[in-house]
Amino acid sequence: MTIGIIGAGISGLTLAYELQRQGIDYHLWEAADQPGGYIQSRREWPGSPADSGETGYLRELGPNSLLGDADLLLWLDELGLTPQLTFSKPVSKARYIFRDGHYRQLPSGPLSLLLGSFFSWKTKLAIFRERNNRTVSPDGETLGQFFRRRFSNEIVDYALGPFVAGIYAGDPDQLLVSETFPLLIRYEKEYGSVLRGLIKNQSATGRRQSFSFRDGMQMLPDALAAKLTNISFNDSVRSINPNSGGWQVTTTKGTQRVDKLVLTIDTDAAARLVEPHYTDFARTLRTISYPPMTAVHSSYKRADVRHPLNGFGGLNPKIEGRFAAGHIWSSSIFDGRCPSDDVLFTTFVGGQAGACNTQLPDSVLAEKVHQELVDGFGITSAKPVFQTVYQWKRSIPQYDINIAAVKKPVNDVEADQLFVCANWYGGVSLSDCIGKARKLAVQLAIK
Ligand SMILES: Cc1cc2nc3c(=O)[nH]c(=O)nc-3n(C[C@H](O)[C@H](O)[C@H](O)COP(=O)(O)OP(=O)(O)OC[C@H]3O[C@@H](n4cnc5c(N)ncnc54)[C@H](O)[C@@H]3O)c2cc1C
Repeated sequence: MTIGIIGAGISGLTLAYELQRQGIDYHLWEAADQPGGYIQSRREWPGSPADSGETGYLRELGPNSLLGDADLLLWLDELGLTPQLTFSKPVSKARYIFRDGHYRQLPSGPLSLLLGSFFSWKTKLAIFRERNNRTVSPDGETLGQFFRRRFSNEIVDYALGPFVAGIYAGDPDQLLVSETFPLLIRYEKEYGSVLRGLIKNQSATGRRQSFSFRDGMQMLPDALAAKLTNISFNDSVRSINPNSGGWQVTTTKGTQRVDKLVLTIDTDAAARLVEPHYTDFARTLRTISYPPMTAVHSSYKRADVRHPLNGFGGLNPKIEGRFAAGHIWSSSIFDGRCPSDDVLFTTFVGGQAGACNTQLPDSVLAEKVHQELVDGFGITSAKPVFQTVYQWKRSIPQYDINIAAVKKPVNDVEADQLFVCANWYGGVSLSDCIGKARKLAVQLAIK
């Protein structure tokens, strides 16, 4: 049996690695000249030679970190990556939110929530009363509706909204609770309260850690790709056609028949390939939206930044009308991101709420980010010592009503030996993608 895999992002690479470990024949095609898809790290030494011994600047264009449990860490250990792991610093647990003209720390525990002044008394009371709220989630409820029903508008505006923009680049009033955080619906059903469910299951969720790698996230796809024997780069899949119960795959470099075929590519690319065989499936795939997102990296001399940057970063609620979605304090989270007397910010502009801001020319966008950093973090220098702009025209698939409609056709095409293992089906995070690929590798071996 041969399994074809289209796309060498984290999903395709993990799947190929797991099939290879089981001794199953596979071929992995990647259109680009390198593995990783959205995972892209760059280490640069502007103005000084690479062999100067300096850290340089380590930029993540896509994902900045991975949230994983003990099982994922064991899997990375088998890959030989344990010595390369770098865990996020304890200080980065603190999240800051822009409110009342400055970045304020979001309460992280019950005591700071009740005694602090971040939330109004009305919201504190709503949180206290949540365990008596006997309403249940109707079908198709959005995250915003769910949190307004159980808590308050303020929670949606100043906690959920920025959080959801950070993970999904999305809008809580469009993302479905069933597609993004189904656990919340389960807690509501099982415990009659989300907070009670969270407390009861605290030990299970609390074991996850956030980490990256010494030379950035790119080390993960590079390590996986280095293990693979059947991967081809610069080899875009042009068409797929049914062939004797399997699929004939035509790529830039040739043609191959496989018994089963797995799509790990984005919805537009998938729609192009399936359209001749499944018109409705292709139409459904084309309804899935990916807002644009621009990553701006800015570095300043530490001495020129008044804010202590003692946390993960500062997020901007949509209601505050700021330019960026938020600013990650990259050098506060991980060591080795910039020279020791500098600090490095990773700013995300765009997402569902700020898509139009990504349309500005790079120079204007970079200046607007600089001004927001100056204003928010007390920066005294006239310009950054280093600044870059990178745009994703399509960033993260939106888990809204359209994505819910894709489940049925995905299940249906499995009968034709066509499978999906992509970030638009069953979870978007890197740990979701790795988990789904590991599971599918086992299923394909026995199917
Ligand atoms: C800006 C940004 C920040 C993020 N931050 C985080 C984070 O901090 N933590 C986290 O867990 N997740 C984060 N995510 C989400 C996560 O990075 C992605 O969901 C994940 O990397 C998707 O991996 P994938 O393999 O499913 O798809 P992709 O990475 O899209 O890989 C698909 C691959 O298929 C290839 N391809 C496409 N068409 C063809 C074809 N016809 N033939 C051959 N190859 C083809 C593409 O070149 C690509 O390499 C972030 C995403 C973005 C955009």
